[in-house]
Amino acid sequence: MLTGPELVRFRKNLLAWFKKFQRDLPWRRTSDPYAIWLSEIMLQQTRVAAVIPYFDRFLQHFPTIEAITKAPEEDVLRLWAGLGYYSRARNLQNAARRIVALHGGAFPSDEARALALPGIGNYTAAAILSIAFGKKLAVLDGNVARVLARLEAIRGDLRAGNRWRELQNAANTLLDHKHPGDWNQAMMELGATLCTPRAPQCLLCPVNEFCEARKQGIVDLIPEKRKKRDTVQVQLAAIVFVDPKARTLLLPSSKKVAPADKDDVPALLSRMWHFPTIQLSGGGTSAKNAQSSNRSKPTPAANELLQFVEAKYFSGLKLRFMLLPLKHVHHAVTYRAITLFPFLVRVPMLPRVAGSKALPLANLGSVPVSNLTRKVARSALLELPL
Ligand code: SF4
Repeated sequence: MLTGPELVRFRKNLLAWFKKFQRDLPWRRTSDPYAIWLSEIMLQQTRVAAVIPYFDRFLQHFPTIEAITKAPEEDVLRLWAGLGYYSRARNLQNAARRIVALHGGAFPSDEARALALPGIGNYTAAAILSIAFGKKLAVLDGNVARVLARLEAIRGDLRAGNRWRELQNAANTLLDHKHPGDWNQAMMELGATLCTPRAPQCLLCPVNEFCEARKQGIVDLIPEKRKKRDTVQVQLAAIVFVDPKARTLLLPSSKKVAPADKDDVPALLSRMWHFPTIQLSGGGTSAKNAQSSNRSKPTPAANELLQFVEAKYFSGLKLRFMLLPLKHVHHAVTYRAITLFPFLVRVPMLPRVAGSKALPLANLGSVPVSNLTRKVARSALLELPL
């Protein structure tokens, strides 16, 4: 690890590069801890370009921490809809409530208090506190770990054994104590723009003279690929009721969060408003089969769906719905690859279901829905002359 004059030069080069070439991002134009917190949460698992419009819109609606606490959860989720990983939004609101209750509505500048908030881990606390309050805390996320590993030519899985702790120690050593916020952002910027996972631009890198991996010609080998969790295939079927006014029926989100139940349907639908949906037990039917089958003859998926709908909403009645198979949709949620087989059912009147809502199929935006539900609505709209 660098020390003495080399370390001084390393810091100087990186900070000068960051000052000159940093991207102009909305959260870099503020020192408001709330806005910085919001940006850090939105940026988790999400690209910068995708976050920007959500960030601006969210701040317009909720300009303060207190404003989030007063809103119904549905409003918060609606503004988050499309960003995915909705537990982030729920945690944000829960944390905001704690901040108002315990810290007078101001984001705490103390690390232990920040870490006690829902949704805030070591990386997020270090990022917010260094940028907003100048705290001497070094960030370590996947981007920064990759940069550090290449600088030091560290091979192997970066999360194995003590390696992550060693990388954190390396990040702490490099941290510029005079400018911790800029320093952390500079390290992240380097990882995001030049020292990228594939084809890093070493010629443009402000710290290439210090890079061991470059010297050894092993940049492309670091970091080693992590063994991915096997993808689990999940098959769902959903029913899209449509009345003569082109309105459809959505069911409310379920509050239940049980770790043992990770594959339950509400969790797969991000616990947001959704079409009546089941998980298929027998593997469902392929889209090809569904499309090529006689559309008035229920496929295996349709039969299961029909039984579910009858049992759940029309107990005792034998329904004679015409289920029209729609184009299936694909969706990925972490390691799950979801294939959903939607079926359109035209009805003279939408079924009365406790807690449900009737909404225009072409505009579900008044309630929070997941991207999967949007895809199903789009699939139905393709079939429907509106
Ligand atoms: S020289 Fe290349 S591999 Fe090394 S830190 Fe810079 S961009 Fe990354």
